[in-house]
Amino acid sequence: MRPEAVDAMLPFLSDRFGNPSGSHAVSREARKALDEARAVVAECLGARPAEVVFTAGGTEADNLAILGAAAVRPGPTVCSAVEHHAVLHACDALGDTRVAPVDTDGVVDLDRLADLLDPAVSVVSVMLANNEVGTVEPLAEVAALVRERAPQAVVHTDAVQAFSWLDVARLAAPADLVAVSAHKFGGPKGVGALVVRQGVDVRPIIHGGGQERDRRSGTHNVAGIVAMAAAMRVTVEGREATVDRVGRLRDGLADGLLAAVPGCTETGRRSTKVAGNCHLSFDGVESEALLVLLDAGGVYASAGSACAAGAVDPSHVLAAMGLSRDRALGALRLSLGPGSTDADVDLALAVIPPAVERLRAG
Ligand code: PLP
Repeated sequence: MRPEAVDAMLPFLSDRFGNPSGSHAVSREARKALDEARAVVAECLGARPAEVVFTAGGTEADNLAILGAAAVRPGPTVCSAVEHHAVLHACDALGDTRVAPVDTDGVVDLDRLADLLDPAVSVVSVMLANNEVGTVEPLAEVAALVRERAPQAVVHTDAVQAFSWLDVARLAAPADLVAVSAHKFGGPKGVGALVVRQGVDVRPIIHGGGQERDRRSGTHNVAGIVAMAAAMRVTVEGREATVDRVGRLRDGLADGLLAAVPGCTETGRRSTKVAGNCHLSFDGVESEALLVLLDAGGVYASAGSACAAGAVDPSHVLAAMGLSRDRALGALRLSLGPGSTDADVDLALAVIPPAVERLRAG
């Protein structure tokens, strides 16, 4: 977590532990902190304070967007093939989903998307930046197509992976619903927000005491929300410089690996990605085995696959981009963040090439 976020939250775990829905002095103090945090979050997301619904993270925000919007206007949902499971599975739960394909960079195919849109469609969900390969999606074009072909539909964007790198306030402006999650930009886990633009109706998926203007019941996670706002503020203030610095680190890492390891391929064009994403695959290597060697060497990375019920399946994102099963199973995702340093890149460049070589030697 960002130190500013830790500092901001600590008092709300001790002497300022009030419930903002109460009426006594400690509660009023918590309410004030909540209101201030809401104003910051709204500003950072290009929204009005009343448009911010606090949630318990990105998954809940995506579910509220999809399920909540579809409950108001039944009809098919449309999403891109590379959405996070928080969107894909929420759409699946509704049962009438159309999935728009992507190109080899992971960018949604606008012509194919247009073919899926008609006036019956209820929700269209296309993420701002992808969590595996970092691809930035053309949200303005998506929204324009929806307004033209499915004017009753709401546009949702999952901006969970975008916030650290992109001006979400500007880029998500064409969307009716925008989801973020604090732990992706230096806030705590288990807290997030959904922007619900004025005039957009979303039925709650959690019922209870009527908090968040009846859109999300449950006692507020004041400490988490205050910390999220602090993390947002520092992220926005330093974003340009961070993108510049981390982008250079990422380029050094990717170029270094491409030069050092034969049979290494970068996934998608770098120009389509956010600055912190480095995604590669190694011929003849299973990344699950590679991760074990990297872990031992102090490099903590992710693979391009998910283990479900004992079997290793290539990720749906890489499959949608047209990567072969072998390439997907040899994929490695290295994520950089504001805390990444030259020394981290040097370590990765020292550890990864010999690990790949060792696996290839059998
Ligand atoms: N959407 C995207 C793009 C994500 O990367 C994630 C988390 O990895 C989520 C949604 C879910 O967010 P959370 O972990 O806060 O539930």
